[in-house]
Amino acid sequence: MALNLDYFDKDLLICNTCRCGFCRDECPWYMARKVESASPKGVMEVIQAYREGVVKPSQQLLDRISWCFGCRYCKERCPPSNLPEKFNARVDPGGAVKVLRYELRKKGYTMGKSAETVNNNVKKTGNPFGVAKKERAKWAEGLDLKKKGKRIFFASCMNPLMGYGETILKISDSLEKFGMTMERLSKLTGILEAVKLDRVSAKLLKGTSKNNEKYINSLRNSAKVLKKLGIEFGYLGEDEPCCGSSFYTYGDFDSFESNAREVYKNLKERGVEEIITLNPICGGVFKNYYPEFIPGFDIKVKHFVEVVAEEVDRQGIELKLDNEMDIAWHDPCYLARYMGVTKEVRTLLRSIKGLNLREPEATGNLTRCDGGGGPEIICPDIAKGVAEYRVKELMDTGASVIATSCPACVMMLEIGKAKNYPDVSIFDISDIISMAL
Ligand code: SF4
Ligand code: SF4
Repeated sequence: MALNLDYFDKDLLICNTCRCGFCRDECPWYMARKVESASPKGVMEVIQAYREGVVKPSQQLLDRISWCFGCRYCKERCPPSNLPEKFNARVDPGGAVKVLRYELRKKGYTMGKSAETVNNNVKKTGNPFGVAKKERAKWAEGLDLKKKGKRIFFASCMNPLMGYGETILKISDSLEKFGMTMERLSKLTGILEAVKLDRVSAKLLKGTSKNNEKYINSLRNSAKVLKKLGIEFGYLGEDEPCCGSSFYTYGDFDSFESNAREVYKNLKERGVEEIITLNPICGGVFKNYYPEFIPGFDIKVKHFVEVVAEEVDRQGIELKLDNEMDIAWHDPCYLARYMGVTKEVRTLLRSIKGLNLREPEATGNLTRCDGGGGPEIICPDIAKGVAEYRVKELMDTGASVIATSCPACVMMLEIGKAKNYPDVSIFDISDIISMAL
């Protein structure tokens, strides 16, 4: 259980002995800051120094580590150690960063107004945006989904409401014209207050409902595809809980643990044995973090694409697009590295007639973060830069559209395309499958 830094004893020993730095240059945090301590290699040295009492706990230290995107590139890139067998493991600097965030928060330091507000929103309303529960269940209206089942479709609280996040990030430039930077806005009011602006400043935030539509359509497409394939599932609607990913990301492990226990109890009481989700953040959290806090966690978790790939193959279904498309695929960090799903995507996309798959340089389990993962609300300008870099890399493949499957990635790619590729469409894989089925 990663509740304290002792859990990372072995990682710290390996990394601070090895010091190879193979993970450093492509780390988005390091690419943005170009400072050794803001890199996986450097932060492991900082954490060791912190444990030895050389680096003291401080707000400055927490501010510095709040920019790690948690993308797990470092863990994936970390070479197998040449140390004895018992030390032969992939080092996880991003994981250690989250534990250090937890330790520093326990000492009274803060991840900042935006992150704390997001966590408070989850506690109060069950979603990071502070929006009423009924809002998040609206996407399923008219789809006639069963309310329960051993297998459930977990819509997540991000997909139905991500338009709020997208709008806030998009208007940060407009706000700057009024001398209100996103950072200042976050510090002053927090993200919930920014959302409330929707009601008083229709002009600034007029894109919100339009932005939400895109995410909602992807959810509706997923449910329709699953039904068309004959897959039985239920949807809990307003009773669907929040997986609590933000608690873990922003270092509030105590809230994460109590929420996870509550969610597990709730799902077990409803007889849930399997979760299918379109959101790999929730999927990755269920698969990776729930077992850390709930020994014996026994609910199977699959991403939509795994289920569809399996079923399309089993039924021998032919997929075809009416109009040919050159698609660059962006592997979300959570799908590729937290859920371990990369092959299924390729099998599925390559089987679609009329679809030409373009692979960017950083792909598969060595994919590149697009600026989501938590810091986008803490340092939006940095996250935007990371997103712009990734969009360019995807467009350099010669593709005409981009596809991915994660609401945070769709949001960041939308942000990243705005400057140089405003007309490029960003699809969720559920949209593509829906077109081809
Ligand atoms: S998790 Fe990602 S952002 Fe954080 S240190 Fe590792 S590579 Fe860098
Ligand atoms: S995390 Fe792994 S790859 Fe990175 S510096 Fe440490 S040992 Fe090398």
